[in-house]
Amino acid sequence: MSTSHKAHCLILPYPFQGHINPMLQFSKRLQSKRVEITIAATKSFLKNMNELSTSVSIEAISDGYDDGGIDQAKTYEAYLTRFKEVGSDTLSQLIKKLENSGCPASDVPTFVINPEGERILQVLVNQFSNLDKVDWILINSFYELEKEVIDWMSNIYPIKTIGPTIPSMYLDKRLHDDKEYGLSIFKSMTNECLHWLNLQPISSVLYVSFGSLAIVEAEQMEELAWGLRNSNKNFLWVVRSTEESKLPKNFLEELTIEKGLVVSWCPQLQVLEHESIGCFLTHCGWNSTLEAISLGVPMVTIPQWTDQPTNAKLVKDVWEIGVRAKQDEKGIVRREIIEEYIKLVMEEEKGKLIRENANKWKEMARNAMDEGGSSDKNIEEFVSKLVTIS
Ligand code: UDP
Repeated sequence: MSTSHKAHCLILPYPFQGHINPMLQFSKRLQSKRVEITIAATKSFLKNMNELSTSVSIEAISDGYDDGGIDQAKTYEAYLTRFKEVGSDTLSQLIKKLENSGCPASDVPTFVINPEGERILQVLVNQFSNLDKVDWILINSFYELEKEVIDWMSNIYPIKTIGPTIPSMYLDKRLHDDKEYGLSIFKSMTNECLHWLNLQPISSVLYVSFGSLAIVEAEQMEELAWGLRNSNKNFLWVVRSTEESKLPKNFLEELTIEKGLVVSWCPQLQVLEHESIGCFLTHCGWNSTLEAISLGVPMVTIPQWTDQPTNAKLVKDVWEIGVRAKQDEKGIVRREIIEEYIKLVMEEEKGKLIRENANKWKEMARNAMDEGGSSDKNIEEFVSKLVTIS
């Protein structure tokens, strides 16, 4: 876990003396180099220790045997099984507590730290189980975007980036038949959105969407609604029909068409490409993130779950094309923060670099797919191999 100011390490030793001792010493070394430290130790271990005089912060988790630890369990197997069950739960609570006190552990995908995400994690881990047998792994990204990770993973797996996989009309324009697939039921909404955007000045509109799956908490929806209304920006907001009941009472009735348009679906790529769009307030789903990058739209991120917090971290700290709105201790981003971050990205001097970087990445995404670009070369290579095999 790190911020641009101070790193914070959560240390998780096995609850045995021989593991805790060296970890404690290592933690002190880190702390002396200005890294904030929290050691997670089991209640039973802490109870049986003589006074632990250390400046390092120690937090209790449970192994399910709070009175006697390993001695209370009948066997090592029983101990470890219970530790896995109970420990992961109390560790998640500790991580939440640290997040609420300002520590960004929340950059980690939620299925790694939330016990309820264990099944998603299992599905993902299973995907890796046969990877040593495959010839190619094609990834929806581009080399320049994730160089370090791709270089490192290439040593282990035969990965090739082939993205961004969006229609060529938004990138290199080399395909002739890549008109977006659109359902006719959405036609009137497409027309409505584009008509409304056509009336707006250049780079003046905030586009807001939380994708096709995320269920936003009612309290968060309310804050979002007031944050958008209080901002001095016009907005296009996609609120899925299943989410609409969470809007504040009379919000839609009182919203003027000059100020904002709320729709249940929009043609996102056409919207992001529109010259009136100045910023995308997003949940940071991977597709939305790549689409915003490809179309050069800077972002305010409010990630919800799965990989979204990690994508938001990359947007903010690595590619520097957006900000991540701060949550309060309840995990809600308040209306004042929403207003503040929208202004930062869309109009303030502080957001200038973000806006410039967004244009830079747009260019790089296009180049990756264009003739001879990194993704184009990988696709060529893949096709050559296929031809050889067949
Ligand atoms: N999308 C769209 N119109 C909408 C909302 C979403 O076209 O009103 C598309 C968006 O362009 C993206 C996808 O739906 O391609 C959402 O994928 P993402 O990975 O961003 O989020 P998820 O829905 O998986 O959370």
